[in-house]
Amino acid sequence: MLIDAHIHLDQYLENEVPTLLEEAEHVIAVSMNIESCEKTLKLSKTFAKVKAAFGFHPEQALPSAMEEEALFDWIRQHAHDTVAIGEVGLPYYLKQEKAVDDRPYMELLERFILLAKELNKPIILHAVYEDAAIACDLLEKHHVKKAHFHWFKGDEEVIERMIQNGYFISVTPDCTYETEIQQVIKKYPIELMMVETDGPWPFEDPFDNKRTSPWMMNHSMEVIASIKGITTQEAARIITRNTTIFYNL
Ligand SMILES: [Zn+2]
Repeated sequence: MLIDAHIHLDQYLENEVPTLLEEAEHVIAVSMNIESCEKTLKLSKTFAKVKAAFGFHPEQALPSAMEEEALFDWIRQHAHDTVAIGEVGLPYYLKQEKAVDDRPYMELLERFILLAKELNKPIILHAVYEDAAIACDLLEKHHVKKAHFHWFKGDEEVIERMIQNGYFISVTPDCTYETEIQQVIKKYPIELMMVETDGPWPFEDPFDNKRTSPWMMNHSMEVIASIKGITTQEAARIITRNTTIFYNL
């Protein structure tokens, strides 16, 4: 069984969670906002396999100043219940839909980077394409090394920079059909790789009409192994070890 390094477990129906967890050794359950943090915390208290991460998803309207303070206070109060700060980052897809002022999102991300540093926790980033370079600037500025770029996509230059800095990425089940993700797998060292579902986000063929669940990572592992020219067992062993060490499980 594999570790799902990024899932929105609080977005599943309550009765779906126990069967879903049977398919994974552990799951890193990320949060969207304060309500989501509370739900995720509860799940981590109920199920030993669930490791909670607390943050604010960037692909949504910014929190009010009051909401932002409440969230930071809440995370500090529950620091001993979390393995990481996340999901945080920059609103790449929101910017494709409408004009968005980047600066307040960058400021919020910088605050989360400082919080991760203060609490000595890894940070889980949603920062793709051009946004990955901005996230790198901020991480480097504050000498934060333990960063996990989930569902990463980006150009050669930023990939090189992230490898140099020892940042981790995680691979989603779309690596079975997206050549773009297969290219990232080819370029990125397996020693800095994890796997994830980002569930309940749905995937395409061969996962059409299937509820996103950790078993899908077995297919990702086969793709990674074949690209890297090693056995699936060896790939799984390396990736499980990476995730265990990164999240201190
Ligand atoms: Zn996510």
